Amino acid sequence: MKTKLLATLLLFTCISYAQTDTRLYDIINSVSADRIKSDVTTLVNFGTRHTLSDTVSRTTGIGAARRWIKSEFDKISSNCGNCLEVFYQKNFVKKGDNARIVKDVEIVNVVAIQRGTKYPNRFIIMSGDIDSRVSDPNNYTSTSPGANDNASGMAGTIEASRVLSKYTFESSIIYVGLSGEEQGLYGGKGLAAHAKESGWDIVGILNNDMIGNITGVDGVVSNRDFRIFSEPVPPTETEQERRARRFYGGEVDGISRQLARYVYKTTKTYMPEMNPMLIYRLDRFGRGGHHRPFNDAGFAGIRIMEAHENYTQQHQDIRTENGIAYGDVLEHVDFEYAKKLTAVNAINLASIAWAPPSPKTVEIGGIVEPSAKLRWSKVDGAKGYKIYWRDTTSPTWDNYRYVGDVDEHTLEGIVIDNYFFGVAAIGADGHESPVVFPNKVFR
Ligand SMILES: [Zn+2]
Repeated sequence: MKTKLLATLLLFTCISYAQTDTRLYDIINSVSADRIKSDVTTLVNFGTRHTLSDTVSRTTGIGAARRWIKSEFDKISSNCGNCLEVFYQKNFVKKGDNARIVKDVEIVNVVAIQRGTKYPNRFIIMSGDIDSRVSDPNNYTSTSPGANDNASGMAGTIEASRVLSKYTFESSIIYVGLSGEEQGLYGGKGLAAHAKESGWDIVGILNNDMIGNITGVDGVVSNRDFRIFSEPVPPTETEQERRARRFYGGEVDGISRQLARYVYKTTKTYMPEMNPMLIYRLDRFGRGGHHRPFNDAGFAGIRIMEAHENYTQQHQDIRTENGIAYGDVLEHVDFEYAKKLTAVNAINLASIAWAPPSPKTVEIGGIVEPSAKLRWSKVDGAKGYKIYWRDTTSPTWDNYRYVGDVDEHTLEGIVIDNYFFGVAAIGADGHESPVVFPNKVFR
């Protein structure tokens, strides 16, 4: 009995140790608030980055902005022995496609791929937006700094590529500046379609939209809180899957939600000073972001953003009215905070890109039995698996058991009715895949 306890303790110690990869702390420390500030400033200085703005000028408009973003990715690539594949991904949208497309426009995303060594066709994506707007969504000439919305997310994405390009990963990482967000989520739609056509295996997208404001319209000032938005279940699920959920659960366990929980956990482990808030919805009430087109295409995607927004500084003409200074200007961005949220992205990109893929199938059994049973398809490159479970009312995977390199396990004494379960694959240095909620039932 005593030896068994000791063995259990030793095993537990090993696992805890394996969870801590000191490279993630190096990554956090390498993110620079100064460089983010410099990049946001450069983006603001293009005057406007409206999707329909000038594409010819070398100094103003979205054309100049995207060429600068591409040149930045190119520079980062040449500093890492050409480790990034940098290209424009374009989609043509005709005038009148919706009320915000008042002329024909080429929607141009700037993509940088850091190719994985073991799973080159498996991708985790970090995105920010290139474009900006003022009060009238179709005004493409007025000064529209978009410092927080969304030069902050764009600069964070560029900075993450600077930091992570010093490392090599098993899976590929995509850093992307998306266009056309304010005109109707066009850039995300285009890239998600491109991903499907190209057969990309997408783990998910971490969409960063407004990661620089700490002074909320609600009066709260916090440089620690941030939100992780995720939809409950994919909109692409079949009627059969929807019906099965009624009997087997999964209402709050879609692939985007698992990605959100992953980011939550990595943040709590490596940046415990931060306060990530899991928000159980696609996005803010009635508002949208560029992760949605990926969700629409059946991919996991979440939105990472500040917790306390200030609406007088979003989508506003620059003006002073009743003593309130409106406008999304540089002065309102907190670069230390943008740095923290960039670090949150970077450690999650790294952790996922160092981890093996998730098991494809996870089956669960144990109806009217005293124990829950799990079995799953093995993953090439996994050193073992963790079974996670939680109370049905808990938002996070609170319990786990590491079960080694096997493809089935019975949780003795754990009654299937009282918990939700999932399985993750664990890599050689402890990095974990996102958890997979059971997608099959056996008797
Ligand atoms: Zn916006």
